Amino acid sequence: MSLREDIRNIAIIAHVDHGKTTLVDALLKQSGIFRENQEVQDRVMDSNDLERERGITILSKNTAIHYKNAKINIIDTPGHADFGGEVERVLKMVNGVILVVDSFEGPMPQTRFVLKKALELNLPVLVCINKVDRPEGRAEEVVDEVLELLLELDESERYLDSHFIFASAIGGWATDDLSVKKDNMEDMYEAILKYMPAPEGDFDAPPKMLISTIDYNEYIGRIGVGKVESGIIKVNQEMLLMNHLDENKKVKVKIGKLYEYDGLKRVEVPEAKMGSIVAISGIEDLQIGDTLTDPSNPNTIEFVNISEPTIAMT
Ligand code: GDP
Repeated sequence: MSLREDIRNIAIIAHVDHGKTTLVDALLKQSGIFRENQEVQDRVMDSNDLERERGITILSKNTAIHYKNAKINIIDTPGHADFGGEVERVLKMVNGVILVVDSFEGPMPQTRFVLKKALELNLPVLVCINKVDRPEGRAEEVVDEVLELLLELDESERYLDSHFIFASAIGGWATDDLSVKKDNMEDMYEAILKYMPAPEGDFDAPPKMLISTIDYNEYIGRIGVGKVESGIIKVNQEMLLMNHLDENKKVKVKIGKLYEYDGLKRVEVPEAKMGSIVAISGIEDLQIGDTLTDPSNPNTIEFVNISEPTIAMT
């Protein structure tokens, strides 16, 4: 097994309005990505029309930022409700989560709902107490409330030493130490590199990937998104597409185009290695939950089945 030290795959989870979108915007801007097309999209993670309409994030939108020698893939998660197991599927692509909590409101029902799923998957949690610029903010108390919640959801106490960051996403700054105000997001980037583990796997094993989400683009058609679990996937490579519900349903397919994420864009790549989040086009039969494997060495990857949507307000 090897570590992919140049990659971090993380999800940002939060109750609606606690500042997830603003935080991603700030992280993008400060890594220099947003400058040229700032006027085109003022809200990065909510660019989908449907999402704009409803004001909530439904589809997963991936972005990637660069800090020092690492690429940080940020996988968005739906906040409002669990649309057919999407939260679990998305969380299975990442090695850690940033939990954003409003410094005034404290943990809310969706904070609890999504955090519970992250803890069930044993993901490390980096807590970001956001909006510390708010005059009515009560960051210290909220730290205690988050610790209580972590203990309630996981009695083992192993989450009690989770790292806390205090941020004003809107002001573009974050700090390790509430008494020290900073003017940039450096402490946040550093905490991501330090507390969110690099993906681990075998570069030399046969290529394997679980299709975690499906995207569609009118120019390139159906796109399967997932993390490369092992080996290397290459353009034009022949792979076996295995259905997760019916083990007899397997078909040989050829990888069309491969994309990785960079800033707000998808960029074509000739190959993608273990640990990379990758989008694949050219396979029209692709379904969520399918596994792409080596035809000479086929086996599926365990998948969270799609269930009826469960509402977060429990
Ligand atoms: P999301 O629903 O979690 O994506 O939340 P948004 O990023 O859309 O933020 C919700 C609201 O909180 C918006 O009006 C933001 O401008 C505001 N907001 C976000 N971050 C901060 C912050 O650090 N301080 C303050 N005062 N407001 C913030």
